[in-house]
Amino acid sequence: MIKAVSILGSTGSIGRQSIAAAQHLGIPVAALTANRKIDLVEQQARQLKPKYVAVFDENAANDLKIKLADTNIKVGSGMTGLIEAATIGEADCVVTAVSGSVGLKPTLAAIETHKRIALANKETLVCAGEIVMPAAAEEGAEIVPVDSEHSAIFQCLMGRKKGELKKILLTGSGGPFRGRDRSELEDITPEQAVKHPNWSMGAKISVDSATMMNKGLEYIEAMHLFGVSPDDIQVVVHPQSIVHSMVELIDGTVIAQLGVPDMGLPIQLAMTYPERCASPFKHLDFYDMKDMTFEAPDYEKTPCLKLAMDCARIGGTAPCIMSAANEVAVSMFLNHRLGYNQIYDCALQAVESIEIIKEPELDAILEADERARVFVREHFS
Ligand code: MG
Repeated sequence: MIKAVSILGSTGSIGRQSIAAAQHLGIPVAALTANRKIDLVEQQARQLKPKYVAVFDENAANDLKIKLADTNIKVGSGMTGLIEAATIGEADCVVTAVSGSVGLKPTLAAIETHKRIALANKETLVCAGEIVMPAAAEEGAEIVPVDSEHSAIFQCLMGRKKGELKKILLTGSGGPFRGRDRSELEDITPEQAVKHPNWSMGAKISVDSATMMNKGLEYIEAMHLFGVSPDDIQVVVHPQSIVHSMVELIDGTVIAQLGVPDMGLPIQLAMTYPERCASPFKHLDFYDMKDMTFEAPDYEKTPCLKLAMDCARIGGTAPCIMSAANEVAVSMFLNHRLGYNQIYDCALQAVESIEIIKEPELDAILEADERARVFVREHFS
């Protein structure tokens, strides 16, 4: 088990559940970071007594500094603060629960300091999997996925040889609008889109689940994490979210990981791996279980998923451009400044309009990310 943890994005859904897991396991929290919710960070800091807290927003960080003046907790800000929290000497594990590509640099910094990455930030691998995975291998930094699907695949592959894997069966619920045509989704509001049938999650990922962009991002993430080609991953719609993903082995055996849909489980495993500990979560009751169904995705109705799968094949900066454009589009949608169906239009047009760089270095990735954001703001607001 790990000795101490640093939690990047502590006020979000995964961040709060990571704190709960650390407390349940008796693991000290060495550092916290947040975007700007300083009242909650202050409360977390007073309770957990970390050595360091970083708030991304400069003004909010100054406010927090004043609030925590009576403590020994050091307060930092900006990307420097995030990196300091990610590399803090006391922690041997970093939960990367920030939303968006802001997680990329701190994750790379944590890898360089040989920490275990409890990876909860999809964009890191989507944008820079070709840089992050080799860096982790070179530095000997473990990457333990927190995303439920990737945790499931990780668990199904524990103790397996690479050559035994035939394909990954990536499951997804299909989201709240499963089966509905684009024309029926024209007037969907943010309030409707964030209501997921099975999972309780943050706003951005809930919208991504509704459009199934989330499954597309997970497809790209799985490709990097498990070193497989796009052809070796099959998306399977499983509305009940009991099977969290599966692997098919070369002899035809399928291994699945099942559990209640609660992010607390993969979060706890990322902290206890390779061991397991008793958890406070509900266990599956097979007598109580309703039907489990599986079906193929309908790509006509989920164009975001198709776009992400196409970008996975194109490679280079294509996934990064798509993901960054989607991030801005979702944020505009949540602020009632963009229609639901336009989220796809933003991502597609960004990918079609911005030059795609093959085998990019980190700078080219960050530039592609920025160009995609500017593109959406200029063309859709
Ligand atoms: Mg997931």
